[in-house]
Amino acid sequence: MTTPTPLQPTLPYLGGAGERRALLAGMTFLEVTEAGGLDLTGLARWLDDHVVDAGVMPRLSVVLEPPTGTVALRPGVGALAQANADLPRILTTARLRVLDALRGLIASPSDDRFLRACIFLGRVRREDGHWVARPEAAAPLSGIVLSLFAVAILSDRSFYDRQLCVCDTCGRVSFELVEGVRRACATHAPRASGVNHKATTPRSKALGRARKTGST
Ligand SMILES: [Zn+2]
Repeated sequence: MTTPTPLQPTLPYLGGAGERRALLAGMTFLEVTEAGGLDLTGLARWLDDHVVDAGVMPRLSVVLEPPTGTVALRPGVGALAQANADLPRILTTARLRVLDALRGLIASPSDDRFLRACIFLGRVRREDGHWVARPEAAAPLSGIVLSLFAVAILSDRSFYDRQLCVCDTCGRVSFELVEGVRRACATHAPRASGVNHKATTPRSKALGRARKTGST
């Protein structure tokens, strides 16, 4: 069995190699699209390294993100300029959709429709006791990335419910470092200078307390 090597230090050690690899793939997509400079070659490389080599999908010739558009990954000379011009909007749309879905998971109440959609569409499924990502060839780029996150999240849902953080400012995904801070990264976290009274109620405490409103 091969173990994917350069794991980011911030990645939790959960599940097996496949789950960690899927999480790394999703987080890497968000990282490489954060600065907005990813070109066709970079996208093709991300797909090769994290999707094709992992056995998630065969090599794609076209990437889709409806209704924003489609882009050929290896266009002919005449089509290269158009493909490069179309790519940023496709990447931005895909990135925003992925972040929206992940933010839903940490919202209150939690919105996990993307997980159910991934299962319903067969983009994630159980194989040999593990969740695996198997998006169809016509899946949008955001759907491919979300299927990778779904593999990791479905493998240890309670961990992600407790620890997943998505930064409101930069979209960075991390795992809770400061109790109650779920919508900021280390860079954009509110100053923790011992002044505690204005901090938002830590979710864990809020959950531990009986709800005034009773059941819903
Ligand atoms: Zn941030």
